Amino acid sequence: MKKKRLLVDMDHVIVDITSQYIKWYKDATGTEIERSELLGKPEDLAFPQPRLIRDFLHMPGFFRNAEVMPGSQDVVKGLNELYELFIVSAAMEFPQSLIEKYEWLGEYFPFITWHQIVFCGSKKTISGDFMIDDHFKNLSNFNGEKLLFTAPHNINTHLNGYTRVNNWTEVKGLLLKNLSYS
Ligand SMILES: [Mg+2]
Repeated sequence: MKKKRLLVDMDHVIVDITSQYIKWYKDATGTEIERSELLGKPEDLAFPQPRLIRDFLHMPGFFRNAEVMPGSQDVVKGLNELYELFIVSAAMEFPQSLIEKYEWLGEYFPFITWHQIVFCGSKKTISGDFMIDDHFKNLSNFNGEKLLFTAPHNINTHLNGYTRVNNWTEVKGLLLKNLSYS
């Protein structure tokens, strides 16, 4: 039996990048932004000084020191046994993030081998059976089942053809129920 292929995004999916934005923004400005203030806004425009957010993405340590998304480690570990699992991150926009993301995965997801890590520019060429991502732009060209992971920026978006998952408990329920073999 062939395992089905599952593609898992990093930022906003296994990386709690929202908390990192809030933390770095507070450190830079002294202003604490509530998560509720970010709901439904594009992530780079959600903060009063959006330029700062863009700058963070190019700064050493931003990706390396981000927190792991609650519940993701155990579920990804379980799914890694059942699926042909790849971590797929469109990291090329921020080249310094490549080594930081690689090291971050080694710390929080040590069971993921380097063979399973795909850092790319566009996700258009990626194919598989399931993709978990928080951005429509990444899911829209995907040939398999599209799982939209809830993030502040996509909270109000409703489109046909996508299954929304709000947290890793929901991902577990959905993907462990689904046939993982074809
Ligand atoms: Mg993402």
